[in-house]
Amino acid sequence: MFENLSERLGGVFDRLTKQGSLSDEDVKTALREVRVALLEADVSLPVARDFVKAVQEKATGQAVTKSITPGQQVVKIVHDALIDTLRGEGEPGALKIDNPPAPILMVGLQGGGKTTTTAKLAKRLKERDGKKVLMASLDVNRPAAMEQLAILGVQIGVDTLPIVKGEDPVAIAKRAKTQASMGGYDVYMLDTAGRLSIDEELMQQVEAVRNVANPRETLLVVDGLTGQDAVHTAQNFDDRIGITGVVLTRMDGDGRGGAALSMRAVTGKPIKFVGLGEKMDALETFEPERIAGRILGMGDIVALVEKAQETIEAEQAEKMMKRMAKGQFNMNDLRMQLEQMIKMGGMQGMMGMMPGMGKMAKQVEASGFDDKILKQQIALIQSMTKKERANPALLQASRKKRIARGAGMEVSELNKLLKMHRQMSDMMKKMGKMGKGGMLKQAMK
Ligand code: GDP
Repeated sequence: MFENLSERLGGVFDRLTKQGSLSDEDVKTALREVRVALLEADVSLPVARDFVKAVQEKATGQAVTKSITPGQQVVKIVHDALIDTLRGEGEPGALKIDNPPAPILMVGLQGGGKTTTTAKLAKRLKERDGKKVLMASLDVNRPAAMEQLAILGVQIGVDTLPIVKGEDPVAIAKRAKTQASMGGYDVYMLDTAGRLSIDEELMQQVEAVRNVANPRETLLVVDGLTGQDAVHTAQNFDDRIGITGVVLTRMDGDGRGGAALSMRAVTGKPIKFVGLGEKMDALETFEPERIAGRILGMGDIVALVEKAQETIEAEQAEKMMKRMAKGQFNMNDLRMQLEQMIKMGGMQGMMGMMPGMGKMAKQVEASGFDDKILKQQIALIQSMTKKERANPALLQASRKKRIARGAGMEVSELNKLLKMHRQMSDMMKKMGKMGKGGMLKQAMK
């Protein structure tokens, strides 16, 4: 059975911790697992190889975001690269169907879900885009297939071209075109015949239909569960007929969706829709994010990374509280506080959120105490050395001059900041001493 990429990477992740940047070796180790996972998810070998190589170049040497582990970061990079590869140009699910009546040619192998998808798409065009749609089955070898489309048409309330016995596919396509023009249809869909495998006769037939219909879209419908076969089918159809997009069906099954990645990488054609069941509503616009998550088998990686970030921030805040309770409040802590204020929308933002404070927010604005000042204060702190930040008592005249110059400000501004820091730290000390064990310590329990 499949092993999740997260499970695979679990062991690797544990080793990839607490380093400043992703080393060559870290990335290689993690990517070996990514490659195996991709192959298991049905991505073809050359595609998996190229993909991993591209990610490796991107990841190596990248600074590790402080608040997430290197392992999570590798996964995030892989995830983003998957989305990049999967995303076609243009809007997902968009079809070129202006200039009515616009012909859409549906091609694919038998059993891939072509007829079902034709009807699903017709329903979607009718209901979501308000299009008047005509469907025609060209599968002259299988009367049952023609009837299937007619039945689906009735079910979804979309017209089908009446069946005329003995007509060949090209003649049906021509009749569909005429009827679509005369009947004021926006779109007409041609559901071509399928075969169990690709053969010359089928290709010639579809080619002939394509030549008379001159379709605006040629959509290949393939079974997403067939993995590499689906990719070969796509390549064959694209070489002979020229497809404009792909619909992957049976994505409701337990396939891992690797075919989608290979399909994109090999044919370069966008995946426009995915089929998610037998019902007429089970057709959705292709979403690269979803498939990427599925290929990785990790659910929502972005959420994972975000969660890690939150944890670290919470840890930092707790550490700061502890130091503050001991009366240790340094410039790094002050900076964190200032950054927090900016995050919350600055002074005005914070006051605007409090009831009755709207007026005061305006006064604050008038007094000139705004985000700009917060940012200037942060710049001053950034201009200090590590030692100075940890111990502001070191700041004598010459150091002050250097710091102010570094931040492009006057020493008087720096003095104001230092005064604020002193006041805050005095207050913290007092609070730390108040009551049994100190107010802050109490609050933390
Ligand atoms: P065609 O020969 O390519 O026209 O294939 P059909 O449209 O007749 O579909 C073959 C079978 O696959 C039917 O039983 C469909 O209901 C089923 N099918 C089509 N699309 C999907 C899908 O996205 N998910 C699932 N689970 N079944 C599907």
